[in-house]
Amino acid sequence: MRRLLAPIAFCLTASCTTIGTPEAGSVSTVAPILTTDEARDDYTFARPEIARVTHVALDLDVDFARRMIGGTAVLDIEAAPGAQEIILDSNGLQIDQIVAADGRVLDFAKGQTIAGKGEPITVDIGDARRITISYKAAPEADALQWLAPEQTAGGVYPFMFSQGQAINNRSWIPTQDSPGIRQTWEARVTAPAPLDVVMSGIIQGEPEDLGNGRRAFRFAMDKPVAPYVIAIAAGNIDYRALGQRSGVWAEPETLPAAAAELTDTEAMIDAAEALYGPYRWGRYDMIVLPPSFPYGGMENPVMTFLTPTFIAGDRSLTGLVAHELAHSWSGNLVTYASWRDGWLNEGVTSYIENRISEVVFGKTRAAQERALSYAAVEGAVAQLGENAPGTALRTPDQLDPLDYDSSITYDKGALFLHTLESIIGRERFDMWLRSWFDRHAFQPATSAMFLADLRENLVRADAGLEQRLMLDEWVYGTGIPANVARPDPTAFATVDEAARAYGVDRTLDRQAWDGWSTAERMRFLQELPDELSADELARLDETLGLSGTGNSEVQFLWLQAALENRYEPAVPQAEAFLMRVGRNKFVQPLFKALVDEGDWGRPIAERIYRSARPTYHSFTRGQVDPLLGVED
Ligand SMILES: [Zn+2]
Repeated sequence: MRRLLAPIAFCLTASCTTIGTPEAGSVSTVAPILTTDEARDDYTFARPEIARVTHVALDLDVDFARRMIGGTAVLDIEAAPGAQEIILDSNGLQIDQIVAADGRVLDFAKGQTIAGKGEPITVDIGDARRITISYKAAPEADALQWLAPEQTAGGVYPFMFSQGQAINNRSWIPTQDSPGIRQTWEARVTAPAPLDVVMSGIIQGEPEDLGNGRRAFRFAMDKPVAPYVIAIAAGNIDYRALGQRSGVWAEPETLPAAAAELTDTEAMIDAAEALYGPYRWGRYDMIVLPPSFPYGGMENPVMTFLTPTFIAGDRSLTGLVAHELAHSWSGNLVTYASWRDGWLNEGVTSYIENRISEVVFGKTRAAQERALSYAAVEGAVAQLGENAPGTALRTPDQLDPLDYDSSITYDKGALFLHTLESIIGRERFDMWLRSWFDRHAFQPATSAMFLADLRENLVRADAGLEQRLMLDEWVYGTGIPANVARPDPTAFATVDEAARAYGVDRTLDRQAWDGWSTAERMRFLQELPDELSADELARLDETLGLSGTGNSEVQFLWLQAALENRYEPAVPQAEAFLMRVGRNKFVQPLFKALVDEGDWGRPIAERIYRSARPTYHSFTRGQVDPLLGVED
């Protein structure tokens, strides 16, 4: 099945900020390309102003034995008049042949590989506007992780999943891998029975039994998306519905706990819709992956990918789900064109996450989560320096946006929106943010567009308001601007008092701890004195039951404090955790804690990493390798 051809919607001459709001219910399948300097993506070889991909049709085979994905990709192309070539992104793809729709074999050339970026593939398309690429991804493709059965909960079947963001998808899909070049897509994927395949597109019918022990699965995404959100997972997974339009996939061993943890999903969707308008993607399903998944979650449309480490048994870490759901507006509906505008996806999303939390879990939890986030911004600014370029929301030219401090992108980004809300007033700000999503639905955006839209539609030349908002200082300036909306100072009053008491005379109150929320427990552990003796750590563990916690965030903070104080009894627990969990947010800081402890910690880190490294996704390896001087 192919989509109907849509009219060309190029925007070659100027910024596309003036393109109108799409009619409600209608989605143009060809999104504009932004051509401003600010929108330029340094991480693609593509030159979309000459020729661009508008639609990708994949027909792929998942080969677990050889740990390889291969098949064909049919690309629909729009090109400027007279264009003769298209440049695609690749990272290690083996291209066998490229043919035009009329069967002509097309010449192509693979350019030089640039570390961290891959290589361009230049195809002489002539007048061809649909090409078929026969190819294979390398077994070590950056996007893909192949898990042996023992790395799964069931222990019987292998598992594979992809992580496309930031620029990994060029290792398994030959297309233009840039967030500003939105594409619709469809796929047919074959895999060995009884494994199921899911993708970040709507499932098309039941799997087809091919009669050779394999089945074929079909998916379609008829809305133009940033190519980094095309995602796939395959394994022994089952499905459980959570509501009319939501459900969860997971290994059968994980499914009951995952479904129980996710009971608030429909309420979250309702809350987000009430704030920011209809959920436009049809279904909202999730897959809970094995613990080696390198992120907390990934907002792949209609199929959020989740780490199992959010399962705490008490729904206390489901802010993660609110976050990934929020990306259905900020990030997936409206997406940065350049990685330098990371805050447009992550900061706006973290703000929405907090607003969803407030509706679903109440003001107290939301205020506490805000206070934790604010402390993260303060921590980052203190560490980097308040005049450091790396504290600006938009990544300055001299810095690498793919290696930017997440406390700035996520937490300072959210803080900017909380500040806007507090100055403008909630009702008016909510209306504007909703209209921003409407005006730019399924289109790329930039910081400058965000500010221009805010000025045009909300500030409206009100000089006093303009001055109070300090918009440019927030986006392009460093540190924390003077007009910041601080979180409720009483959010952690009780727990901060308890931490102070502990600091003075090592008072511990198990009963109080038992009554605290996860956010309060995290705050307490973050406020512990830097230096703790072995006796003090033993008493903390024994009194508060830290080693035995099933809450991964609490366990992480405990292990971090223990390792930073060379607490030998925690090493086996840290080792078990690092061997099981591949989530970079936990893994990288724990290895860093060990490495920072020199003579004591470095040999432990080296020993654990030798065994654990092969179980990590390429992203996590890329973050830990430099700490230990390991070459990829
Ligand atoms: Zn996010």
